[in-house]
Amino acid sequence: MKINIQNLANNLVELDDVIDSDFLSESYRNHYPGPLKIHVVVDKFGSDIRFNIHLATEAQYQCDRCLSLYRTPFEARLTQIIQIGEGKLKDEEDVVLYPVGTTEIDIDPFLMEMIILNHPVKMLCRDDCKGICPGCGADLNHEPCRCGAEKTDPRWEELRKFIK
Ligand SMILES: [Zn+2]
Ligand SMILES: [Zn+2]
Repeated sequence: MKINIQNLANNLVELDDVIDSDFLSESYRNHYPGPLKIHVVVDKFGSDIRFNIHLATEAQYQCDRCLSLYRTPFEARLTQIIQIGEGKLKDEEDVVLYPVGTTEIDIDPFLMEMIILNHPVKMLCRDDCKGICPGCGADLNHEPCRCGAEKTDPRWEELRKFIK
């Protein structure tokens, strides 16, 4: 998504767009097939521009416990300051510099960063997902265990080794 900054007044401008997720790498595109709803508040002050970006979409994950695919809302926010040319803000590490004469800013790298930073480490279809029985393979959310293995707590297995 490109934002034309050439004719921006020193003022707040709000932009809305719905984009596809082509710019994501394939592994992320599988989780965020799109469309992505983007809302950007552009705040220009002289040669500095602040983007307040909000991204909303539906994510597709696979549960770590029961391996089922599920969909869930995904949201991310980012404030990014950019600067055209060099100036007083250049020492701040979260400022991205663009050369003098830049007419439009491609915010795809910022959107990519927002997705990577908010991508969950742990994926659970629900907080109390019971998972799959390691003994009989039953999906314990939908059917009872047929082998009795689910009652064996791995911590007790460890203790038994000491008892022997
Ligand atoms: Zn699950
Ligand atoms: Zn079982």
